[in-house]
Amino acid sequence: MPRRGLRQSLRPYGRSIFSEMSLLSAKHDAINLGQGFPDFDGPEEVRAAAAAAIHHGPNQYSPLAGLPELRHAIAGWYARWYDVAVDADHEVTVTNGCTGAIGDAMLGVLEPGDEVLLIEPWYDSYPASVVMAGGVCRYAKPTSPDYRVDRRTLEAGVTPKTRMLMVNSPHNPTGRVYDESEWNVIESFCVDHDLILFSDEVYETLVFEGTHRSALSRPRLRDRSIVASSVGKTFSLTGWKIGWTVASPPLTEAIQGAHQFTSFCVATPLQVGAAAALKLPDSYFEGFLRGYRSRREQLVRGLRSIGLTPILPQGTYFTLVDLAPLGIDDDRVFCERLTRELGVAAIPTSAFHEDGRSGPIRFAFCKQPEVLDQAIERLSKIDQLLP
Ligand code: GLN
Repeated sequence: MPRRGLRQSLRPYGRSIFSEMSLLSAKHDAINLGQGFPDFDGPEEVRAAAAAAIHHGPNQYSPLAGLPELRHAIAGWYARWYDVAVDADHEVTVTNGCTGAIGDAMLGVLEPGDEVLLIEPWYDSYPASVVMAGGVCRYAKPTSPDYRVDRRTLEAGVTPKTRMLMVNSPHNPTGRVYDESEWNVIESFCVDHDLILFSDEVYETLVFEGTHRSALSRPRLRDRSIVASSVGKTFSLTGWKIGWTVASPPLTEAIQGAHQFTSFCVATPLQVGAAAALKLPDSYFEGFLRGYRSRREQLVRGLRSIGLTPILPQGTYFTLVDLAPLGIDDDRVFCERLTRELGVAAIPTSAFHEDGRSGPIRFAFCKQPEVLDQAIERLSKIDQLLP
């Protein structure tokens, strides 16, 4: 009788913390500031474009690289915001969200035993995707509360077997936006060690302080980078799962070599909608950022008003609250109690550390202002949970 159940190498990753906390949140009818998804939907005209495609087509498979219309819109996006030329026919792959992009890239590029350097705290699908592709994770560990990336921190994790570095800026969950000096470090590190750079840029339009720098805009990284993004965050359409990679033709060929067998292509009518989204006028992006700036202030101010010390994130829709000053040493248990006893869900960042040590907890502010107010009101009783 064959052994049934999850393969050994995936067992350490258990169930994604996002699913776990969302389930717990639903069970206790809590306000879910855990898993990052907006409680409002993306622009009407974008949804209308997808709906029209469902009604009138196209509804059949797209080419495996993605609908030409969307691939050209993606190339147009990089020209528009970063002044970078992208070849829509040889450098773009439309994927099942950015998570799909990560999976396809790992499967297409890694040989068994190749090492991938991850920066702590990482996004939860990174290590699991590396392992599913037969790779081995290595870790670089910048220190809190700044989480700055410097050369020494990266060097500590690299070996002759390292093939890839993964970065994420704006960074989930720390809210950091890497500055020019950090990008210089990343660039020279990748060049000196001859690494592929996987740059997860899904929060690219959520920058409150500083500017987003795309790996694609750095000539020395252009050919060795896989840049991934999606419409989920920027257009409040996380359930569409439309993402993409942009990479030089040989890397794109490798990604597509895997993508054709993991999913072949993604939902065609939603690709039509995604193309419409990427072409929205500047006014959409201005309003989008204005709304998020105000939600950021609201949540951070609210958390401070009840005696907590959230960081003011430079980017993303998350803020971190350090628990150590509160005398709490188990972030997971604390998040469970917050959900059960106060009715607010958050994410324990221990899930994003190699040794699983307790860390700050993450609150998402991609919610309506009245929901954020209600969450603060519930959290004001936090003293009840403190030792
Ligand atoms: N990116 C989202 C977050 O960080 C979660 C996405 C997911 O649950 N897979 O909260």
